Formats: sequence, structure tokens, C-alpha cells
Amino acid sequence: MSRFAKLRTPRRGRTRYIRYNAYRMLLTITTSRAPATDLGWLLHKHPAKVQSFELSFGRAHVFYPEATDDRCTAALLLDADPVGLARANRGTGNELLAQYVNDRPYVASSFLSVAIAQVYGSALAGSCKTRPELAEEPLPLVARITALPCRRGGEPFLRKLFEPLGYDVRATRHPLDEHFPEWGESPYFTVELRATVRLADLLSHLYVLVPVLDDEKHYWVSADEVAKLLKHGEGWLNSHPEKEQIAARYLRRQQKLVRSALAGLASDDATDPDEAAAEHDLAEERLESKVSLHERRLAAVLAELQASGAKRVLDLGCGEGKLLRLLAADARFAEVVGLDASVRSLEIARQRLDRARLPDSARERVKLLHGALAYRDARLNDFDAAAVVEVIEHLDPPRLEAFAAALFGSARPRAVVLTTPNREYNVKFEGLPAGKFRHADHRFEWSRAEFAAWCEGVCARHGYTARLQPLGDTDPQLGGPSQLAVFVRTAG
Ligand code: SAH
Repeated sequence: MSRFAKLRTPRRGRTRYIRYNAYRMLLTITTSRAPATDLGWLLHKHPAKVQSFELSFGRAHVFYPEATDDRCTAALLLDADPVGLARANRGTGNELLAQYVNDRPYVASSFLSVAIAQVYGSALAGSCKTRPELAEEPLPLVARITALPCRRGGEPFLRKLFEPLGYDVRATRHPLDEHFPEWGESPYFTVELRATVRLADLLSHLYVLVPVLDDEKHYWVSADEVAKLLKHGEGWLNSHPEKEQIAARYLRRQQKLVRSALAGLASDDATDPDEAAAEHDLAEERLESKVSLHERRLAAVLAELQASGAKRVLDLGCGEGKLLRLLAADARFAEVVGLDASVRSLEIARQRLDRARLPDSARERVKLLHGALAYRDARLNDFDAAAVVEVIEHLDPPRLEAFAAALFGSARPRAVVLTTPNREYNVKFEGLPAGKFRHADHRFEWSRAEFAAWCEGVCARHGYTARLQPLGDTDPQLGGPSQLAVFVRTAG
């Protein structure tokens, strides 16, 4: 069983609790929908593996205590490291002792939200490339969280948060220390939540509500938190009976931020919360060091497209429409056309745009086309710019010249923003055997020199200049994990 010691921090004389056994914050998610091991697809984590992830405040481990056709449980265990916590706290004004002596490493807190976003990011976003229909399906799910602090409100407040969302809530309160019953009850509960919901919804609810219950965030709340609240509260928070309390606690009662969040939530508000959220997402992505490479790549591409001054933009090989969603939210782009060879990806892109609750004007700006990249296509003429994000490596090398002729020779947008992996960086990916590509469908992956040579050839043949840059955290020897080229047309 868990145990907690009572400590008094000198600064504010506040009582804190510290848990000192080997337990750590643990979130398990169980499904009984056969085949239950589909949970592995949804979470993008293989049931047979134990995986560990470095986070800014420690490590997260994902493993499956059970994985059968009838029942499958994925466990997310957080191992917060006090030194990492101190680092995460740097600059927040917290004093040294409070950084080291507190309950943060041991209880479910906003760290759990950070871990959900980083480790289960795709599942949280509701995307599942291999089994997209699964991500949309409400599944019988049980989430179990150990050591969930329910401060100021206890179990009744816990119920008020989760029951309106359709959860059956079971809570067991922990004593502060079972050897010292006179210390009384701790604010910590083991909580079980049961509902038939989409996994993405369950994760969004936890992302927002765990820190709300904890009511004590580990980092200073900045305006970015409003964007996170709006993003993860999308579709449910505005109709939640406790939305004011949720916003107030999530934003640590900073009135200006709370007002801004509530205004963003209100459906009849004149400003468009999704646009604001999308802008904030980007600001946040630039700020956070641990966002996924793909998010950073999309943010970089978006920034280049914005800087190009383009109004009519193509997204060639748009896939499931992540970039389209960002482009749609920016009114500078008067017309946005996504093209892909995969009808299924286009359907998902359409659903994603519908779900984004963009205003009609934004949705009307985006068109989707089914087509192949290696053929001249008059529908692609007269655009100012084209994005080609992680697509060329899916083309057979002999088709690359046809692709370049169709895009740079025939459609001839003024600017082209193109990204592709940097093969040299692959040695840094654990678990990628030497000589293997990152994705089963990649036909090639280029070194920086190979990419530069290809860009040079394209420029010479079609009248463009190109500027190349690395994407992601760069290694001094190997370059960035991905590479980006911005082509600008020089000849008519
Ligand atoms: N740009 C998206 C998707 C990248 S995956 C993103 O960054 O998220 C590559 C995409 O290119 C897939 O959606 C695939 O269907 C598409 N694709 C591959 N070959 C293609 C071709 N010849 N014509 C059109 N699309 C193609």
C-alpha cells in the first residue's frame, strides 16, 4: 500500500505530503472489446514491448500487464526525477527546498497530462494511421489512476467532474499513513473511471481534469495554457456543468486567463476560438522543447508559407490533413487545396476538418483533391505556394523526375516548401536497424548532400533557387532529423 509522510515547507508553512515507497504515478487503461490488443494500435505502443521515454521532468514507461484477446491493459508509469523537476521549475520563483521536497514525483498531477500529450500524443489527437476507424469508435474503457490528489472538494468534486461526462466513478481514499491512523486521511485517491468512449476523449478528459483535481500545477501558468485547455476541452468542456471551476483551477485562478478561456469556450463568442487555439498551438510548439518532430516540422512549414506571402496554397500529399487544419485556421490563406493519392487519407482529412469546428468561412477555404503527384494536373496551376511534407520519399526514384516536372515545370508555384528525412540522423534512432528506413513505405531516404544535389538539379532545370535548412534538434555531425528546402521561382 501507499504511504505518505507529512512535511512542512518553511516558506509558506504549508503542509505537503510526500510518498516514500516505490510506487509512482500510474495510469492504466483497460479495454475488454475483442480483440482487446487493438489497444496497442490505438496507443501506438506494441503490447509485447516495454518502452521508456525521456520527459523534461523524468521518465515515462509504457507496458502491458495483460494483453489477451479478451482484456488488454496498458500502463503508463511516471518516474519523475527530482533533479528534472527542479529543472522544469527553474525560473518559476519556487524556492529550492520546495522543488525537492514535495509530492510532485509521487502523485498524479499535471505531469500526467504532459506525459499523456507526449507519450500518447497520437491517441490523444484521435489519430490512428493503421486503424483510423478504431480511433473513432467508442470502446468500453476503464482508466485507473493511483494516487490522484483531490484537493479542495474531495470525492464529491471528483464525481462532479467525471459523472457528467458519462463515467462510472469508483474512488478509494488513502490514509496519510496506515501506520499512523491518527494522521487522518490523505487527499489521495485511487480512482477508477469506466465508460464507453473514444480513447481520444478519455485521454482529453484526463489531460484536463487531473491537474484540475490536483489544483496545484508544477509550472507557472502562461497564456499557452489557455490554448491547451481550449484544444483538449474541445467538444465537451463548454457544456460541462463545472466549466467555470475547471477553467479556474486549470489556470490557477489567474482571472485574466480564466476569462479568456471562458470566452473562447462560449460558442456564441464573436472571436473564433479555434483560430486562436491554432495560433497558440503553434506558439506553444515553438516554445516546448519536447513536441513531436512532426509537429515541429508542420510549424516550420506553416511559418515558411506565411512568410512567403502566399494566398493560394497547395498541400501535395496532404495525408490526413494536419497541415490543412493549420492552414484553414489562418485567414491569410484564401484558398487551400490538399491533394493525395489515398482516398482513405482524404476521408480522414475531411473528418478532421469537420471535427475542428472551424467557422464555415474557414472550411470553405479548403478543398480536397484526389490525384497523383507524378502527373501534370491543370487543377494545380495558378497557386502561389505548395507544401510537400514528407512525401517525396514515398515516390519510386524513377518517378521523381516526373514529379519535379509536374510541380516545378508545369504547375510552377512561386514557392515550394518541401521536407524529407535526413538519413544521416537515423543512427540516433534507437531500434532502427542500420540501413533500414523509418517507414515501411519509404522508397529512399537521403543524406543532406543527396538532398542538396537533387534540389540543385531541380533549380537548374526549372528556374528556381533553393534554401535548405535542418528540421528538429540538430546534431553537429549528423544534422537534423529531417530537412527542409524552400524553393523560390526565379524564371517566369
Ligand atoms: N504530408 C502529410 C502526409 C505525409 S505521408 C504529413 O506530413 O502529415 C505521405 C503521403 O503522400 C501519404 O498520404 C500518401 O498517400 C501520399 N502519396 C504518396 N505517393 C503519392 C503520389 N504519387 N501522389 C499523391 N500522393 C501520394
